[in-house]
Amino acid sequence: MTWVSTGTSKYFKRTFGATSVPAAVEKAARDLRSDLLGDYPDIPVDVEALARAVGIEISPLPPKAGCLEGALVPDRDRFVLYLRSGVSPQRLRFSLAHEIGHTLFYSSPPIRKHQIGILAQDEINAEERICNMLASALLIPSEVLQRMFTLKQMADPWGELLYLEHVARTFKVSLPVLIRRIAYVAVKAIPSLVLIFEHVLHAYTHADEDLRVTAVASLGSARNRYSIWMNQTANGLGLMTAARLYSLWREQGVSQDGKIKLAGKIVLNDDGELFHPEGASDCQHSVSVEMSEFHLGRWSKKIVDTKCAVALYARPGGHAQEAYVVAVLELGPS
Ligand SMILES: [Zn+2]
Repeated sequence: MTWVSTGTSKYFKRTFGATSVPAAVEKAARDLRSDLLGDYPDIPVDVEALARAVGIEISPLPPKAGCLEGALVPDRDRFVLYLRSGVSPQRLRFSLAHEIGHTLFYSSPPIRKHQIGILAQDEINAEERICNMLASALLIPSEVLQRMFTLKQMADPWGELLYLEHVARTFKVSLPVLIRRIAYVAVKAIPSLVLIFEHVLHAYTHADEDLRVTAVASLGSARNRYSIWMNQTANGLGLMTAARLYSLWREQGVSQDGKIKLAGKIVLNDDGELFHPEGASDCQHSVSVEMSEFHLGRWSKKIVDTKCAVALYARPGGHAQEAYVVAVLELGPS
């Protein structure tokens, strides 16, 4: 992932004495946590205690204008936070951690002043991205994450998916938050790519709503070697199972007004029907996927044989737009 240089990213790197934004985020998260919770905090991380420590008071009122997660209003010696309601407990924890990130852009009391103060869209976007990264770094300390991964837990892609779910529950974060975090932290795993697909517009052309890759993590020996670019469609990649699973679920599992009727974790069975898998059931198949390989100093296209596990996740009572598909692709020996 590349970072456009903005006043916001420069300020953040300077504040935490780091040469890259991801390194600054790690430093910021570690500083915030260790001051209050020590270097090895209890898991799940007590994000409410962290929020109180930086002076955030949660208001019971509905959110005013603000970012997607809520609205943070600076006051003399505190911040008042209006959080969105009706979200899952995991989402609430993420929002709180995200808003802790925004406090880092303000000067200390008595006068809380935003340090960038430029309302250019580039700067706003950069701050949002930093706050999202910081939120997952706060909730998922890299040392704890790395200790949780050994090769024993995952014999195959389905096993890896189940283990990722277990780790996400342990940290009390959503599966997508965990997967985005793992993209930045090297963990022991079978050589594999973990993809999140969402039904969205192309991020640059803002057209062609489709089931597109919105996050990628390369694990084990695939790290820094294989990747799949964002925005690609499940169909375009040759991941027909993901495309079929999603379109069938849209037909059968979503009501006219876009509300989710069929919630939970859903996969396709051998007859191509939707079903809720029981823990260890074997829902894997072989597929050849075009991916990018970093070889001799540059990225090039390569068709790679993989064994894959694909599942769709839909929140009870949620909107169809919130559903996502996770695919774990285990790379064969090369
Ligand atoms: Zn925000």
